[in-house]
Amino acid sequence: MKTHIPKKHEGIFTSYAESDVVIFGVPYDGTASYRPGTRFGPSAIRQEIDGIETYSPYLDRDLSDYKICDLGDMPMHFGSTEKALDKVRHEVRNILNDSKKTVVIGGEHLVSLPLIEAYIEKYPNLHVIQFDAHADLRDEFVNEKLSHATVMRRVFEKLEGDLWQFGIRSGTRDEFAFADKNTKINRFNLGGIKEATYKIGSAPVYVTLDIDVLDPSIMPATGTPEAGGITFVELMEGIKALSGLNIVGADIMELSPHYDQSGVSTSVACKTLRELLLVLSQEEV
Ligand code: MN
Ligand code: MN
Repeated sequence: MKTHIPKKHEGIFTSYAESDVVIFGVPYDGTASYRPGTRFGPSAIRQEIDGIETYSPYLDRDLSDYKICDLGDMPMHFGSTEKALDKVRHEVRNILNDSKKTVVIGGEHLVSLPLIEAYIEKYPNLHVIQFDAHADLRDEFVNEKLSHATVMRRVFEKLEGDLWQFGIRSGTRDEFAFADKNTKINRFNLGGIKEATYKIGSAPVYVTLDIDVLDPSIMPATGTPEAGGITFVELMEGIKALSGLNIVGADIMELSPHYDQSGVSTSVACKTLRELLLVLSQEEV
Protein backbone atom coordinates (compact mmCIF):
# COMPACT_ATOMS: atom_id res chain seq x y z
CA MET A 1 0.00 0.00 0.00
CA LYS A 2 1.64 3.21 -1.16
CA THR A 3 -0.43 5.72 0.74
CA HIS A 4 0.85 9.09 1.89
CA ILE A 5 -1.49 9.16 4.84
CA PRO A 6 -0.39 8.22 8.33
CA LYS A 7 -2.67 6.00 10.36
CA LYS A 8 -3.86 7.97 13.37
CA HIS A 9 -6.86 6.36 14.99
CA GLU A 10 -6.98 3.23 17.10
CA GLY A 11 -9.99 2.08 19.12
CA ILE A 12 -12.62 0.39 16.97
CA PHE A 13 -10.47 0.77 13.88
CA THR A 14 -8.31 -2.01 12.43
CA SER A 15 -5.02 -1.83 10.57
CA TYR A 16 -4.99 -1.08 6.86
CA ALA A 17 -3.97 -4.65 6.00
CA GLU A 18 -6.93 -6.15 7.88
CA SER A 19 -9.52 -3.63 6.74
CA ASP A 20 -12.37 -4.00 4.25
CA VAL A 21 -13.36 -0.33 4.41
CA VAL A 22 -10.97 2.63 4.57
CA ILE A 23 -11.87 6.12 5.81
CA PHE A 24 -9.80 9.17 5.07
CA GLY A 25 -10.29 12.93 5.11
CA VAL A 26 -9.62 15.33 2.24
CA PRO A 27 -9.34 18.79 3.81
CA TYR A 28 -9.74 20.75 0.58
CA ASP A 29 -11.96 23.78 -0.10
CA GLY A 30 -10.03 25.52 -2.88
CA THR A 31 -13.04 26.39 -5.07
CA ALA A 32 -15.52 27.37 -2.33
CA SER A 33 -17.69 30.14 -3.80
CA TYR A 34 -19.60 31.47 -0.80
CA ARG A 35 -18.01 30.80 2.58
CA PRO A 36 -14.86 28.65 2.84
CA GLY A 37 -13.95 26.36 5.73
CA THR A 38 -14.85 22.82 4.71
CA ARG A 39 -11.14 22.02 4.88
CA PHE A 40 -11.71 21.86 8.64
CA GLY A 41 -14.55 19.32 8.27
CA PRO A 42 -12.52 16.13 8.64
CA SER A 43 -10.69 17.30 11.77
CA ALA A 44 -13.98 18.40 13.42
CA ILE A 45 -15.54 15.01 12.73
CA ARG A 46 -12.49 13.21 14.13
CA GLN A 47 -12.71 15.24 17.33
CA GLU A 48 -16.38 14.41 17.85
CA ILE A 49 -16.85 10.93 16.47
CA ASP A 50 -15.85 9.20 19.70
CA GLY A 51 -18.95 10.79 21.23
CA ILE A 52 -21.40 8.68 19.25
CA GLU A 53 -22.36 5.05 19.84
CA THR A 54 -20.94 2.45 17.47
CA TYR A 55 -24.35 0.75 17.36
CA SER A 56 -27.03 2.05 14.99
CA PRO A 57 -30.64 1.39 16.03
CA TYR A 58 -31.68 2.54 12.55
CA LEU A 59 -29.79 -0.26 10.80
CA ASP A 60 -29.36 -2.66 13.74
CA ARG A 61 -25.66 -2.93 12.97
CA ASP A 62 -22.56 -2.06 14.96
CA LEU A 63 -19.34 -0.53 13.64
CA SER A 64 -17.33 -2.86 15.87
CA ASP A 65 -18.50 -5.83 13.76
CA TYR A 66 -16.68 -4.53 10.70
CA LYS A 67 -13.05 -4.10 9.68
CA ILE A 68 -12.67 -0.38 9.16
CA CYS A 69 -9.35 1.49 8.97
CA ASP A 70 -9.00 5.22 9.49
CA LEU A 71 -6.02 6.62 7.57
CA GLY A 72 -6.38 10.18 8.88
CA ASP A 73 -6.35 13.17 6.56
CA MET A 74 -4.47 13.59 3.29
CA PRO A 75 -2.04 16.50 3.31
CA MET A 76 -3.47 18.78 0.60
CA HIS A 77 -1.94 21.26 -1.83
CA PHE A 78 -3.74 24.51 -2.40
CA GLY A 79 -3.10 26.58 -5.50
CA SER A 80 -3.64 24.02 -8.24
CA THR A 81 -7.06 22.41 -8.30
CA GLU A 82 -5.92 19.85 -10.88
CA LYS A 83 -2.93 18.77 -8.77
CA ALA A 84 -5.09 18.42 -5.66
CA LEU A 85 -7.63 16.29 -7.51
CA ASP A 86 -4.90 14.16 -9.12
CA LYS A 87 -3.55 13.40 -5.70
CA VAL A 88 -6.94 12.27 -4.43
CA ARG A 89 -7.56 10.13 -7.53
CA HIS A 90 -4.19 8.45 -7.09
CA GLU A 91 -4.88 7.71 -3.44
CA VAL A 92 -8.26 6.11 -4.10
CA ARG A 93 -6.91 4.06 -7.00
CA ASN A 94 -4.31 2.56 -4.67
CA ILE A 95 -6.94 1.63 -2.11
CA LEU A 96 -9.32 0.18 -4.72
CA ASN A 97 -6.43 -1.87 -6.15
CA ASP A 98 -6.16 -3.44 -2.70
CA SER A 99 -9.84 -4.53 -3.01
CA LYS A 100 -11.12 -2.21 -0.29
CA LYS A 101 -13.98 0.27 -0.21
CA THR A 102 -13.51 3.93 0.74
CA VAL A 103 -15.56 6.41 2.74
CA VAL A 104 -14.12 9.91 2.34
CA ILE A 105 -14.74 12.92 4.58
CA GLY A 106 -14.60 16.35 2.87
CA GLY A 107 -13.80 18.96 2.17
CA GLU A 108 -15.77 20.58 -0.61
CA HIS A 109 -17.97 18.59 -2.95
CA LEU A 110 -15.53 18.87 -5.89
CA VAL A 111 -13.41 16.25 -4.10
CA SER A 112 -16.06 13.67 -5.10
CA LEU A 113 -15.00 14.00 -8.75
CA PRO A 114 -11.61 12.27 -8.53
CA LEU A 115 -13.09 9.74 -6.11
CA ILE A 116 -15.87 8.79 -8.52
CA GLU A 117 -13.48 8.83 -11.50
CA ALA A 118 -11.33 6.22 -9.78
CA TYR A 119 -14.42 4.15 -9.01
CA ILE A 120 -15.58 4.29 -12.65
CA GLU A 121 -12.19 2.89 -13.73
CA LYS A 122 -12.88 -0.11 -11.53
CA TYR A 123 -16.68 -0.32 -11.99
CA PRO A 124 -17.58 0.91 -15.51
CA ASN A 125 -21.32 0.40 -14.89
CA LEU A 126 -21.25 2.47 -11.66
CA HIS A 127 -24.39 4.35 -10.58
CA VAL A 128 -24.07 7.47 -8.41
CA ILE A 129 -26.58 8.46 -5.73
CA GLN A 130 -26.27 12.13 -4.72
CA PHE A 131 -27.93 13.63 -1.66
CA ASP A 132 -27.66 17.40 -1.98
CA ALA A 133 -29.56 20.68 -1.77
CA HIS A 134 -27.87 21.71 -5.01
CA ALA A 135 -27.92 20.13 -8.44
CA ASP A 136 -24.19 20.88 -8.94
CA LEU A 137 -24.82 20.55 -12.68
CA ARG A 138 -23.45 23.87 -13.97
CA ASP A 139 -21.17 23.45 -16.97
CA GLU A 140 -18.94 26.26 -15.68
CA PHE A 141 -18.84 28.36 -12.56
CA VAL A 142 -16.98 31.71 -12.56
CA ASN A 143 -15.32 30.49 -15.78
CA GLU A 144 -14.07 27.30 -14.14
CA LYS A 145 -14.97 23.79 -15.24
CA LEU A 146 -13.83 22.38 -11.90
CA SER A 147 -15.91 23.64 -9.00
CA HIS A 148 -18.20 22.35 -6.27
CA ALA A 149 -20.99 23.89 -8.39
CA THR A 150 -20.03 21.83 -11.49
CA VAL A 151 -19.00 18.58 -9.85
CA MET A 152 -22.02 16.48 -10.78
CA ARG A 153 -21.96 17.74 -14.38
CA ARG A 154 -18.37 16.44 -14.62
CA VAL A 155 -19.43 13.18 -12.96
CA PHE A 156 -22.38 12.84 -15.34
CA GLU A 157 -20.03 13.20 -18.33
CA LYS A 158 -18.02 10.20 -17.14
CA LEU A 159 -20.88 7.94 -16.02
CA GLU A 160 -22.33 5.07 -17.99
CA GLY A 161 -24.78 4.26 -15.19
CA ASP A 162 -27.31 6.78 -13.92
CA LEU A 163 -26.93 9.82 -11.68
CA TRP A 164 -29.69 9.66 -9.03
CA GLN A 165 -30.20 13.04 -7.34
CA PHE A 166 -32.19 13.48 -4.11
CA GLY A 167 -33.25 16.51 -2.08
CA ILE A 168 -32.37 19.00 -4.83
CA ARG A 169 -33.91 22.40 -4.21
CA SER A 170 -31.45 24.90 -5.65
CA GLY A 171 -29.89 25.51 -9.03
CA THR A 172 -30.24 27.56 -12.19
CA ARG A 173 -33.11 27.05 -14.61
CA ASP A 174 -30.59 25.48 -17.01
CA GLU A 175 -29.42 23.03 -14.35
CA PHE A 176 -32.95 21.85 -13.67
CA ALA A 177 -33.64 21.55 -17.41
CA PHE A 178 -30.43 19.54 -17.79
CA ALA A 179 -31.43 17.32 -14.87
CA ASP A 180 -34.93 16.71 -16.25
CA LYS A 181 -33.38 15.52 -19.48
CA ASN A 182 -30.33 13.63 -18.26
CA THR A 183 -30.37 12.64 -14.59
CA LYS A 184 -32.82 10.94 -12.25
CA ILE A 185 -33.65 14.03 -10.23
CA ASN A 186 -35.87 14.04 -7.13
CA ARG A 187 -36.71 17.60 -6.20
CA PHE A 188 -36.94 18.62 -2.52
CA ASN A 189 -37.05 15.16 -0.94
CA LEU A 190 -36.05 11.52 -1.11
CA GLY A 191 -39.44 10.37 -2.44
CA GLY A 192 -38.16 8.23 -5.32
CA ILE A 193 -35.54 6.31 -3.40
CA LYS A 194 -37.30 2.93 -3.26
CA GLU A 195 -37.93 3.04 -6.98
CA ALA A 196 -34.26 3.90 -7.51
CA THR A 197 -33.15 0.83 -5.59
CA TYR A 198 -35.39 -1.43 -7.73
CA LYS A 199 -33.99 0.06 -10.92
CA ILE A 200 -30.35 -0.06 -9.81
CA GLY A 201 -30.66 -3.70 -8.74
CA SER A 202 -27.26 -5.29 -8.18
CA ALA A 203 -25.17 -2.73 -10.10
CA PRO A 204 -22.34 -1.07 -8.15
CA VAL A 205 -23.29 2.21 -6.47
CA TYR A 206 -21.34 5.17 -5.13
CA VAL A 207 -23.15 7.37 -2.59
CA THR A 208 -22.11 11.02 -2.39
CA LEU A 209 -23.67 12.93 0.47
CA ASP A 210 -23.44 16.70 0.47
CA ILE A 211 -24.42 17.48 4.03
CA ASP A 212 -26.38 20.55 2.94
CA VAL A 213 -29.19 18.22 1.84
CA LEU A 214 -30.23 18.49 5.50
CA ASP A 215 -32.22 21.50 6.63
CA PRO A 216 -30.00 24.37 7.87
CA SER A 217 -31.87 24.25 11.21
CA ILE A 218 -29.91 21.08 12.02
CA MET A 219 -27.05 21.64 9.59
CA PRO A 220 -26.11 25.33 9.71
CA ALA A 221 -22.39 24.59 9.40
CA THR A 222 -22.03 24.14 5.68
CA GLY A 223 -20.56 26.21 2.88
CA THR A 224 -23.85 26.96 1.10
CA PRO A 225 -26.83 26.49 3.47
CA GLU A 226 -30.16 26.20 1.68
CA ALA A 227 -33.53 26.50 3.41
CA GLY A 228 -36.18 23.83 2.98
CA GLY A 229 -34.03 20.76 3.54
CA ILE A 230 -34.84 17.24 4.67
CA THR A 231 -34.92 16.17 8.31
CA PHE A 232 -32.37 13.90 9.95
CA VAL A 233 -34.97 11.13 10.26
CA GLU A 234 -35.71 11.37 6.54
CA LEU A 235 -32.01 11.02 5.81
CA MET A 236 -31.77 7.97 8.10
CA GLU A 237 -34.74 6.39 6.29
CA GLY A 238 -33.15 7.22 2.95
CA ILE A 239 -29.85 5.59 3.90
CA LYS A 240 -31.70 2.57 5.25
CA ALA A 241 -33.55 2.25 1.94
CA LEU A 242 -30.13 1.75 0.31
CA SER A 243 -29.34 -1.31 2.46
CA GLY A 244 -29.98 -3.87 -0.28
CA LEU A 245 -27.73 -2.15 -2.81
CA ASN A 246 -24.19 -3.05 -3.76
CA ILE A 247 -22.59 0.13 -2.39
CA VAL A 248 -18.90 0.18 -3.24
CA GLY A 249 -17.95 3.63 -1.95
CA ALA A 250 -19.30 6.75 -0.27
CA ASP A 251 -18.39 10.23 0.86
CA ILE A 252 -19.71 12.92 3.18
CA MET A 253 -18.90 16.47 2.07
CA GLU A 254 -19.26 20.16 2.88
CA LEU A 255 -19.22 20.28 6.69
CA SER A 256 -17.78 23.69 7.59
CA PRO A 257 -17.33 23.57 11.36
CA HIS A 258 -16.48 27.23 12.00
CA TYR A 259 -20.18 27.99 11.46
CA ASP A 260 -21.18 25.32 13.97
CA GLN A 261 -22.05 27.58 16.90
CA SER A 262 -23.85 24.89 18.91
CA GLY A 263 -21.90 21.82 17.76
CA VAL A 264 -25.08 20.28 16.40
CA SER A 265 -23.89 20.13 12.80
CA THR A 266 -20.75 18.17 13.61
CA SER A 267 -22.65 15.68 15.77
CA VAL A 268 -25.22 15.20 13.01
CA ALA A 269 -22.38 14.68 10.51
CA CYS A 270 -20.74 12.08 12.79
CA LYS A 271 -23.95 10.10 13.10
CA THR A 272 -24.51 10.30 9.36
CA LEU A 273 -20.97 9.06 8.76
CA ARG A 274 -21.68 6.07 11.03
CA GLU A 275 -24.76 5.19 8.98
CA LEU A 276 -22.84 5.47 5.71
CA LEU A 277 -20.11 3.19 7.06
CA LEU A 278 -22.68 0.64 8.20
CA VAL A 279 -24.75 0.61 5.03
CA LEU A 280 -21.60 0.12 2.99
CA SER A 281 -20.08 -2.53 5.25
CA GLN A 282 -22.50 -5.30 4.36
CA GLU A 283 -21.74 -8.23 2.10
CA GLU A 284 -21.94 -7.49 -1.60
CA VAL A 285 -25.22 -8.61 -3.14
MN1 MN B 1 -24.91 21.40 -1.81
MN1 MN C 1 -22.93 19.58 -3.63
